[in-house]
Amino acid sequence: MSGVGTGGGGTASKALFERAREVTPGGVNSPVRAFGAVGGTPPFMASAQGPYLTDADGNEYVDLICSWGPMILGHRHPAVVEAVTGALALGTSFGAPSTGEVELAEEIVDRVDPVEQVRLVSSGTEATMSAIRLARGFTGRGKIVKFAGCYHGHVDALLASAGSGLATFALPDTPGVTGAQASDTIVLPYNDLAAVEKVFAEIGDEIAAVITEAAPGNMGAVPPLPGFNAGLKDVTSRHGALFISDEVMTGFRASRSGWYGRDGVAPDLLTFGKVMGGGFPAAAFGGRADVMAHLAPAGPVYQAGTLSGNPVATAAGLATLRHSTPEVYERLDEVSATLGREVSAALTKEGVAHRVQYSGTMFSVFFTEDEVTDFDGVRATESYRYSPFFHELLRRGVYLPPSPFEAWFVSAAHDDRAVGRVVEALPAAAAAAASVKP
Ligand SMILES: *Cc1c(COP(=O)(O)O)cnc(C)c1O
Repeated sequence: MSGVGTGGGGTASKALFERAREVTPGGVNSPVRAFGAVGGTPPFMASAQGPYLTDADGNEYVDLICSWGPMILGHRHPAVVEAVTGALALGTSFGAPSTGEVELAEEIVDRVDPVEQVRLVSSGTEATMSAIRLARGFTGRGKIVKFAGCYHGHVDALLASAGSGLATFALPDTPGVTGAQASDTIVLPYNDLAAVEKVFAEIGDEIAAVITEAAPGNMGAVPPLPGFNAGLKDVTSRHGALFISDEVMTGFRASRSGWYGRDGVAPDLLTFGKVMGGGFPAAAFGGRADVMAHLAPAGPVYQAGTLSGNPVATAAGLATLRHSTPEVYERLDEVSATLGREVSAALTKEGVAHRVQYSGTMFSVFFTEDEVTDFDGVRATESYRYSPFFHELLRRGVYLPPSPFEAWFVSAAHDDRAVGRVVEALPAAAAAAASVKP
């Protein structure tokens, strides 16, 4: 480590970003990494250990992204490294069934009661895409309800978004998604059960499923209001549709059993990713056995994957889950509560209106006085305060999500020293957030 972070974009990172932009669109392999929302050059990471990342210039950062969730035990946890090394020595891909897949599936089924059967895939996007196909195949219906501000991967039909308003039929919001692909998607305001009831009253017999983030993190942390998920379960079951809970972000992070472990509402199908891959490409969807029985080769709904159940990824995921003990979840709660409190104290001192909101152990800071319950609320916040706040922290060696609309993630490896480094950096960041003009 060469000292406190320089704000990212050191000489080596700048050179790498230039090279990257020559050969990769925007220089990155996933858009948020380009720092478009906050400006500046993204630090290119060279290594990681515990709660820390080190960039190509040797700057060390306290990592509050944790790879967007997977690194729940911190980077290079010895048990995960050992499991991966052991698996590597036995072969990297078989294209045939293997032991690790059975063990990982058993671990998931054991942790999450509503999951009676599970299918492994390689990304969260594949999990939600396949869950939707299965819901359509099972119900024989075409339409899907999703909520504005919820992200379910880059599945064509689920990239459709829409302005607020009741029962807005979706228009594609990215070129490349056709009207036909989006036309069966209905986008409703999050946390608005009345809007869901209304659309079901009108065309309930055409709706295959409602998909929602179990507790959203992809518009910042905007948790379900009490009774919202239970209401979704109720309305879907009354109309013969399926309730799909996307736990790609919350699964095995909000608790041992994910968000389900907190609210106890049993979905028909659930999707997982992030934590269950332990930093490798592994994801899953699962749920009711009678629904899963429709999946090939048991049933007619086709789904497959060359690297599904990859032995190295399943070993990493299984080791991560087995070491995600009650103590780990206690520590996540403790660290996120401490950081939320400290962020709030620093901003209060500077007179900056804000709300710290939690979706389980994920949290985020909104610059507003009002509780944020949907995507319109998110967009109404003073998000221009985030960029200066972010850059002061980055300069001081704290790596936050490079967008005001993403959740912050902690790990069990975030010890008091790492937390202390964040706390030390907060006053300057709060002052920067206070002084900026819209
Ligand atoms: C990350 C995420 C996805 C997509 O997962 P990928 O592995 O990036 O394809 C889907 N749903 C939610 C809720 C997510 O947070």
